[in-house]
Amino acid sequence: MKVIIIGAGLAGSEAALQLAKQNIKVKLYEMRPVKTTGAHVSENCAEFVCSNSLGSADITNASGLLKHEMELLGGELIKVAYEYRVPAGNALAIDRVGFSKKVTELVENSENIELIREELTEIPKDMPVIIASGPLTSDSLANSVKDFTKTEHLHFFDAIAPIVEKDSINFDVAFWASRYDKGEASYINCPMDKEQYENFYKILTTAERIELKEFEKNAKFFESCLPVEVLASRGVDTLRFGPMKPVGLIDKRTNKENWAVVQLRQDDAAKSLFNLVGFQTNLKWGAQKELIHSIPGLENANIVRYGVMHRNTFINSPQVLNATLNTRQRENLFFAGQITGVEGYTESIATGMLAGLNMAKLLKNESLITLPQETMLGALCKYISSSELKHFQPMNSNWAVVSPIELPKKERKNKKLKNELLANRSIETLKGILCSI
Ligand SMILES: Cc1cc2nc3c(=O)[nH]c(=O)nc-3n(C[C@H](O)[C@H](O)[C@H](O)COP(=O)(O)OP(=O)(O)OC[C@H]3O[C@@H](n4cnc5c(N)ncnc54)[C@H](O)[C@@H]3O)c2cc1C
Repeated sequence: MKVIIIGAGLAGSEAALQLAKQNIKVKLYEMRPVKTTGAHVSENCAEFVCSNSLGSADITNASGLLKHEMELLGGELIKVAYEYRVPAGNALAIDRVGFSKKVTELVENSENIELIREELTEIPKDMPVIIASGPLTSDSLANSVKDFTKTEHLHFFDAIAPIVEKDSINFDVAFWASRYDKGEASYINCPMDKEQYENFYKILTTAERIELKEFEKNAKFFESCLPVEVLASRGVDTLRFGPMKPVGLIDKRTNKENWAVVQLRQDDAAKSLFNLVGFQTNLKWGAQKELIHSIPGLENANIVRYGVMHRNTFINSPQVLNATLNTRQRENLFFAGQITGVEGYTESIATGMLAGLNMAKLLKNESLITLPQETMLGALCKYISSSELKHFQPMNSNWAVVSPIELPKKERKNKKLKNELLANRSIETLKGILCSI
């Protein structure tokens, strides 16, 4: 029997490759380029819509551990991500075009996957289905999902950061450095003194925003991806203690720390494009131009992509899903990716992997894998499937969802040691599970 997957994004492509690897036939439906989402710009599978970073690769970081878990469990996209890695300190940042072209190639060249460029407007009945249509699920499918789950689907708002051309940056002002000189000096840094920062802050807080539609007026933003103007509205120093934090960024030419710094991260393998870290925004494009050009070093920056904001849809997973990612109502219907209420690229790929693995198990009449809460992926799946919060909100990988570990009293504040122990415990647990599945 063929498995239907809706959406060839991060989660859907990963799920398809997992199934194909086990010789299971897949029909992978992708609506692009016939219909666009408003955020994707290509027809490639597994496109990164905003930042090109999957977050930390360090195993003692929550997101880093999730990556290590995926590698252990045989994740396919994580391998491609390392193949297309670009320098970004400890973070796993990628050449987004190279990455998605490679994933498209893997999908198209697989004899077990049929990639169909078509919007699916309803959940197919009587066949195994994985819904991986993402935060920008088309309206008709979203309505079909709503009818099935019998709950309102939820939403919040996400914004994209602008990208500029490196050759248009003024390196008499901007300088290369990584925070605390860790790894290669891979970030471009635009320094500001107090006066320049205050001028920038004034432009930002008075800049024109794109008018929200009536139904968007009560928009909720995702806390870890707030638009820069929303962050700024919390106080004059919020940005200086957040994305524009100057600590550990020394310009070797002046040997001093600045009042604030705008960091730019490499966005493509050719090292010609850089995105403004933490500058996701919903300002009008003219206002974005004025703001970016007010940043020292970016006076003449050529902006190749402006920031935009999007509605981000997810289901009320605690009422709908098992920790195995299939629905309680229908065992051969799985959800994967951001639509489940996990948040982020890495989390979307990871749930795509688990949905693919479990769909294969189901078709082979084997027990599905429920990963324990000692693992980051298990903890995330438990969270989304059983959170008791009245207002369920999306969740990134983080240590708080993992089952706790007891440290001797004198070590309780040793965060590094704790994270190392949590990471080791997860890897050992997974190794044990791998022997039994
Ligand atoms: C604007 C925006 C910015 C974001 N920025 C970041 C970021 O910087 N960092 C981060 O970690 N995460 C970010 N995210 C969150 C999230 O990690 C990404 O959206 C990620 O791509 C989600 O993966 P996915 O596979 O669930 O969905 P997607 O990668 O979006 O894939 C879903 C696919 O389904 C297709 N599709 C939708 N409906 C249908 C249909 N009816 N029929 C057929 N195909 C359909 C879409 O075209 C798309 O290709 C952002 C999200 C948004 C919306």
